[in-house]
Amino acid sequence: MSESLERLESVKNRIRRGARLVGRDERDIQLVAVSKTQPEDRIDAILSAGQRIFGENRVQEAEQRWLHRKAHDPSIRLHLIGPLQTNKAAAAVSLFDCIETLDREKLAAVLSNEMRKQEKTIPCLIQVNTGDEPQKAGIAPQALNAFIDYCRHDCGLDIRGLMCIPPEEEPAGLHFAFLAGLARRHRLVQLSMGMSGDFEKAIAAGATHIRVGSALFGSRG
Ligand SMILES: *Cc1c(COP(=O)(O)O)cnc(C)c1O
Repeated sequence: MSESLERLESVKNRIRRGARLVGRDERDIQLVAVSKTQPEDRIDAILSAGQRIFGENRVQEAEQRWLHRKAHDPSIRLHLIGPLQTNKAAAAVSLFDCIETLDREKLAAVLSNEMRKQEKTIPCLIQVNTGDEPQKAGIAPQALNAFIDYCRHDCGLDIRGLMCIPPEEEPAGLHFAFLAGLARRHRLVQLSMGMSGDFEKAIAAGATHIRVGSALFGSRG
């Protein structure tokens, strides 16, 4: 078995075990394969092993890597998992199938405009700054209510759920549980949380999407 296939199987086993441990159905957890900065051959290997959902954090890099692949294979789904500048919103709306990092009003307004122009509705997740870190993107938890309202009613965006990147020095599980609580309170069903090192904890807390890079592809060059 190829190394890529082995890694994919091992991640799937971890998902299965993690789900079983808390009585969840593994089919309710979507694996977003984070392909940023990975070499082309590893991406092709994971694609041929059947993986269809991928995550990228930069619009231009994602275009170079995925425009031709998506043209050949419409079943590929691409999630934006990095910060989005408003001047890249048009390109993002045209390329991505889900924006996981909606994090400010200006971006919501520009995305809404672009989606109208391109006659395309892309589901969005709101990134929440669960650790209140000044340098990190995301909506402050106490501002979430008003922001959801703005996105839905003023911008007409399709808000499906929440996403977070916990502070490195704090226990991730606490942040996952906190985000899950926020989602429940706002009746949002999708939760994107958990990466290579901690996705079992995220699954235990209710993640519907886990974003896995190095455990799938090997370390980034
Ligand atoms: C890079 C990245 C990941 C994947 O991280 P790994 O530890 O390699 O699994 C997940 N989420 C975001 C937002 C990232 O930028």
